[in-house]
Amino acid sequence: MGNQGDLTTPGELLGVIEEFTPGEGCYEHQGQVRAAVVGKVFYDMINRKSNIIPERKNLSFKLRKAKYVYGVVSSLKEDYAIVEVSGVEERFINPSITGYLHISQVAQKHVKDLRDAIRPSDVIKAKPISFTYPLQLTLRGRDLGVIIAYCSVCGTLMIKADEEHLKCPNCNNVEPRRIGPYTVRGNGSRS
Ligand SMILES: [Zn+2]
Repeated sequence: MGNQGDLTTPGELLGVIEEFTPGEGCYEHQGQVRAAVVGKVFYDMINRKSNIIPERKNLSFKLRKAKYVYGVVSSLKEDYAIVEVSGVEERFINPSITGYLHISQVAQKHVKDLRDAIRPSDVIKAKPISFTYPLQLTLRGRDLGVIIAYCSVCGTLMIKADEEHLKCPNCNNVEPRRIGPYTVRGNGSRS
């Protein structure tokens, strides 16, 4: 468990379900309570709930200046992905904004199949390249890409195997990804 007021990024481990139930801006996955959004963590000791308190300012202004945003891949189409953007740099936005990621913007090199780079429920760090809706996103750039991913077979949080593959510590399934600053370590914790 972190400290009151700590800044969280999506996917960050806040505690286990025996300690806290997921409140606002949090979710539970396999007994672990994690941050769903960018914000500040507030542990409600009386109700034993963890909540993420959003911070808001002028959204359009923030987006224009944003070096990166955080989002969750909600679905894949033939040549683009739909992304729910819920964080602008380290600030949480609510409601989330729909983002659009074209296959040509996934990597520097040509990507034949979107599933080789991203999959639904992945958390990505992306850069906005237009400011109309849906927000156009790119993963072309240093420090951009998938930051959290779950195994397509068993749902376990995956760890980095090499620069282009993630591995499931539970079932050993290996999947390709456009990997960004991936922070999940071998024991499933984040640093
Ligand atoms: Zn697995």
